[in-house]
Amino acid sequence: MKYEKKIEELITRINEADAIIIGAGSGMSAAAGFRFYYERDEMFVEHFGEFEKKYHYHNAFDAGYYRYRTSEERWALYSRMICTILDAETGEPYRDLDKILKDKCFHILTTNQDTQFTHIYPDEKISAIQGDWRYLQCSRRCHDQIYPSSEIMHKMNENINEELAIPTELIPRCPKCGAEMEPWIRSYVFLEGKKYQEEHEKWQQFVVDHQNDNILFLELGVGRMTPMFIQEPFWNLTHQLPNAYYITINPKDAILPKELSKKGLAIHDDIAKVLKEVTERMAE
Ligand SMILES: [Zn+2]
Repeated sequence: MKYEKKIEELITRINEADAIIIGAGSGMSAAAGFRFYYERDEMFVEHFGEFEKKYHYHNAFDAGYYRYRTSEERWALYSRMICTILDAETGEPYRDLDKILKDKCFHILTTNQDTQFTHIYPDEKISAIQGDWRYLQCSRRCHDQIYPSSEIMHKMNENINEELAIPTELIPRCPKCGAEMEPWIRSYVFLEGKKYQEEHEKWQQFVVDHQNDNILFLELGVGRMTPMFIQEPFWNLTHQLPNAYYITINPKDAILPKELSKKGLAIHDDIAKVLKEVTERMAE
């Protein structure tokens, strides 16, 4: 099928859908211009330039995994990273998607931790199943609670000294056991407690509520690293549910299993460009 035809099909499917479930992966944020996780772009140089000089890494992903000598140095990087993420503007593909979803019944399932969807939607519309930089947890998982990170992270970020360390007293500690806190994101100590279960329940309930409707599974930028979180459930559910349809938009990994050849569409193209085009055509 030609690109033009695919865009038309996408618009028709959106218009005809009773319910849309968005599955968004890292490609969505890359399309929004947030490439500093993996690339030495302008944003990386602006926010992490001093860190690069000291530690010789060239993207935020490597910065996050670097083995810092002290907690004070580690939290300096974390606070810079979290403030960069939380204070970022809402990317254009997110805003275009919002226009497309304007009058629709929808839910967002995402592995992105960068909180972009929370700029636009209340938490009940979002399932962030790989955690969320807006929260901290106990690194020992001694109790099942997460805590807002924004205020303390901004305070830390403002107090990073010339050695790129924060004052010891600002290191966040667990109120119950005194261990250091950790950002609530996928890691070896990721807290899969009540909040985590709720994130899963929200999107599963949405699917149950719309299981017999025209439900569109719209996958945006889900890579091949972790197919079990979004891609495989989307494929299985589309296969099982009588009126489901699956569309994937991905510049690299737009895959349509042959079992879904009559219930799906793969658009192998730039996400920002496709969403922009759909937004403009739907407004006509
Ligand atoms: Zn604790």
